[in-house]
Amino acid sequence: MADHDYPQVKKIDVISGARVLSEGWDPTVQHDIYIEGSEIKNIAPHLTSASSHTSKKVLDARNCLIAPSLCHAHIHLDKCFLLSDPKFADLEIVKGDFAEAMEITAKAKARFDKDDLLRRGTWLIAESIAAGVTHMRAFVEVDHIVHMKCLNAAIDLKRKFAAACTIQICAFAQEPIYSGTHGDANRELMEAAVFNEHVSVVGTTPYVENNEETLKKNIGWAMKMGSDCNIHLDFHLDYNLDGSKNAQTDFVAKRLQSMSLYQRIRSSAERLTVVLSHCTRLTMYDEPEWQALSQCVQHLELYFVGLPTSDLYMMGKPRDHEGGGERVRGTLQIPQMIQRYGIRGAIAINNVGNAFTPYGSCDPLSIASMGVGLYHAGTKKDARMLYECVSGRAMEAIGYSSRPFMIGEPATFVLFDMRGSGGSLLSTRRERKSLQEVLFDPPKGRKTILKGHLITT
Ligand SMILES: [Zn+2]
Repeated sequence: MADHDYPQVKKIDVISGARVLSEGWDPTVQHDIYIEGSEIKNIAPHLTSASSHTSKKVLDARNCLIAPSLCHAHIHLDKCFLLSDPKFADLEIVKGDFAEAMEITAKAKARFDKDDLLRRGTWLIAESIAAGVTHMRAFVEVDHIVHMKCLNAAIDLKRKFAAACTIQICAFAQEPIYSGTHGDANRELMEAAVFNEHVSVVGTTPYVENNEETLKKNIGWAMKMGSDCNIHLDFHLDYNLDGSKNAQTDFVAKRLQSMSLYQRIRSSAERLTVVLSHCTRLTMYDEPEWQALSQCVQHLELYFVGLPTSDLYMMGKPRDHEGGGERVRGTLQIPQMIQRYGIRGAIAINNVGNAFTPYGSCDPLSIASMGVGLYHAGTKKDARMLYECVSGRAMEAIGYSSRPFMIGEPATFVLFDMRGSGGSLLSTRRERKSLQEVLFDPPKGRKTILKGHLITT
């Protein structure tokens, strides 16, 4: 396949015979979904006669369950698959802690060039699309080590995949911007990056600063940049399980109260959001603290994104004096935060194939599936919630609207082959029939439709 033919994008007029997995739809009934341009024109009971659709570009989906497409609310595009790329084979994990992850990644970053950024980025985007992802917030670092290399590669990838995946770029300061020898240089580079027309989000990591004063300056700087550039905000925050440290989440939420830009009163077309991720320190909150946070965030466009694979890996390391049977871990209980406190949120993959998170795939559904055990979420209602956390709620968190299966809305879906795999005879295969089964054991056979187009990578 020639490079200009990739990814393949094929117009679809009718999705025929699919069973709809979405609120208010009976998954036992087959439907035909008619598409005009990029939007849903009509959804009607399935016409069983194949000739009914002969003049159309029909996608036969009689063996498929169709659901809202998936979304990465938080994924690092530039430092993915460092552990898979032969170029970085010498950078092995030895200790497995956060300091080593920063150190290994900084060494890798010093060697980043356009070729490997595009190669690894293409792996991530292509594998994500194959999993059913149509939207992603892609983090790329900007600092004294990489300068604008990662951002420029992300812009190239955003253009290359424009018809296949909506890529929202976050200019991200993983390094300190107010402390250390390179703080000022990092900040100046970020100040240039956030004004780039392709950048929709400013992101920082306040906890890498050297004290509480510089940490607060980091937050204040990002808020000023967000409002100067009229873009979304995204903080990696409160990534600890240390009760002696103040949670900065309250500080951020209170500061946002006086910023009209990030209030829920704005129209959906102008909506700008603030995302707080990790926030493991909040798992030590008691009931009154959760109630107070809930009150504080109700009028804000504030979303929490749980990153469970990274949290479990980074926080599962035993301290030297421990025997090995003891582990302290924490990750945001996103479904419970939504259900019990009315706090908005989603869950995401964060990193894949690097020293921060060596394991996992580009499939958001793998995280949702892990959530069944992690959040003790095994009911039908839980399955819907977990699915939403990697689809509609994830899109909402990063500023897109999601009204699946409504006439006039974008025809954007994922189709799951419900026949399963294994068994040489179709009759011996185990069929998936419900969203719960999709969550418990995500199907591998999938098709991705973005705005009325079948995407193949
Ligand atoms: Zn992250």
